[in-house]
Amino acid sequence: MCGITGYIGKNNAIKVVMDGLESLEYRGYDSAGIAYICDNKLNIIKEEGKIINLKNSIDFNTKSSLAIGHTRWATHGIPSKTNSHPHSSNKFIVVHNGIIENYLELKEELLKNDYKFESDTDTEVACAYIDFLYKSDKNILSVLNKASKIFKGSYAFGIICTDDLNHLYALKKTSPLIIAFGNDENYIASDIPAILKYTNKYMLLDDYEIAKIESSKIEVYDSNMNLVDKKILEFEGSIESSIKCGYEHFMLKEIHEESEVFVNTVKNYLDDNFKNIPDLSKYNKFHIVACGSAYHAGLIGKYLIEKYSNIPTLVEVASEYRYKKNFYDENTLVILISQSGETIDTLACLLKAKSDNIDTLSIVNVFGSSIARESKYVLYTKAGCEIAVATTKAYLAQITLLALITMYLTNNKDIETKYISKLIDEEINKTYEDISLYISKCKNVFFIGRGIDYALGMEGALKLKEISYINASAYPAGELKHGTISLIEEGTPVIAISTDNSLLEKTISNIKEVKARGAKVIFITTSKIDGDFYDYKIEIPKINDLLQSIITIIPLQIIAYEVAKYLGCDIDKPRNLAKSVTVE
Ligand code: GLU
Repeated sequence: MCGITGYIGKNNAIKVVMDGLESLEYRGYDSAGIAYICDNKLNIIKEEGKIINLKNSIDFNTKSSLAIGHTRWATHGIPSKTNSHPHSSNKFIVVHNGIIENYLELKEELLKNDYKFESDTDTEVACAYIDFLYKSDKNILSVLNKASKIFKGSYAFGIICTDDLNHLYALKKTSPLIIAFGNDENYIASDIPAILKYTNKYMLLDDYEIAKIESSKIEVYDSNMNLVDKKILEFEGSIESSIKCGYEHFMLKEIHEESEVFVNTVKNYLDDNFKNIPDLSKYNKFHIVACGSAYHAGLIGKYLIEKYSNIPTLVEVASEYRYKKNFYDENTLVILISQSGETIDTLACLLKAKSDNIDTLSIVNVFGSSIARESKYVLYTKAGCEIAVATTKAYLAQITLLALITMYLTNNKDIETKYISKLIDEEINKTYEDISLYISKCKNVFFIGRGIDYALGMEGALKLKEISYINASAYPAGELKHGTISLIEEGTPVIAISTDNSLLEKTISNIKEVKARGAKVIFITTSKIDGDFYDYKIEIPKINDLLQSIITIIPLQIIAYEVAKYLGCDIDKPRNLAKSVTVE
């Protein structure tokens, strides 16, 4: 998630590295830092929070031709100035992206060899270990080669050694790293946007390769220390398009990441037998508190938890929950859901529960965010950085995690991850152009469903409203006739969702009620049933009830996206909305 930049050459290294970090901001981060060499002396500046904090601490008139920079997305140790990168140890200074899985083992060895540590990071250990290896082998390349075989996990490193200020070194496994070329100046970066202001020529560093970079020369060695002839690539396109990886919008890119997000979230909890999930056996009541899409995810959680584990679960909008009387006690767990982990109303509910000595568990996407830090337990959704304001993949990760919690509560580990991820892949590649074009010409859209499908309809309606500005509302299918059916007229689109066979017949009766009044019915279902009660049918695959919502939500997200596109809306940045709502 984090960003690495590095520079060696004739230009002002501090400026180039900082420009690079700014164009990597989209990746998400919680702190930033830079190390530069000035008059043969090393300087390190780090700040918690936004890059602007770091920029304000830097004197841009300082002359430097060698620098490395970093935006950190904390994995080991809280976001803080001390834990921020670059880290240094005697002769070495590093910035690192990824996780060194065996860092505790290495740390133990280093402690025995009198190394001291300031931070809680795996990165500082890796840096010290490189220095430790250097003590008995003064060849930097060979030291990095040894380190690459010792470090377990994923890493991209930018490295400076104070014994060799004519070179910048880089090393990688799994985490991305590119090396870019200029005239008498060269760069390293986690991603292409970081270098596009200066050059579009680059090469990709492969796993276990080591780069030795000076201003006018780049050498890349493979794991056997042989020089590699690297292919030079040229990026054609804008900075924005480079971040979007060819997708027209972040929202579409993020929908296309959903199968990976699903797999990552499941793996994180299932691979070690739910070890990451705390013991929830003492609780006999859950209160789920959230806002917006996270609230809708909470509703899915309620259906699943109540149906399968028989634990009464209340779901409340945070801005309401915080000001009302809450009937909780020592056996209640308050579950807070927030993508950013900064949603102010949700945070306020968390603090309220905490001050009443009620246990709290948060489901958040951003590591080390306020909600994550304040809650007793935290479970991370593994959605990665989400840029589009209207959430898609983070919502999918939230409902996946709620299904996993239900599985944990019922001691069920049976999940066909591969099969479901294949189905997600198929669904995200479908288009609904006729339906979307039709909806784009309408003023009002209704979503109806029963049970969990009603909760999904609420999310589908919100998605449509957020990005296309078309009025959309969701109703329990049986509720429409108690008032709202008066709004149905010739051609009004009604998206009817039915994935629960036990409720299919009842839902079809409700669909017929609106059809008889002129509605244009879009029927989203897992059933094979046909008839003249709908105008369009979207048949989706039927999977395990616990995880069905993960499939069902996809066409709703795609339709919202397509409608907004037909209308020429600013899909990624809808009017009046912010990604992280930190005001009440
Ligand atoms: N594991 C490292 C840390 O927590 C690097 C995290 C990152 O990729 O930003 O400091």
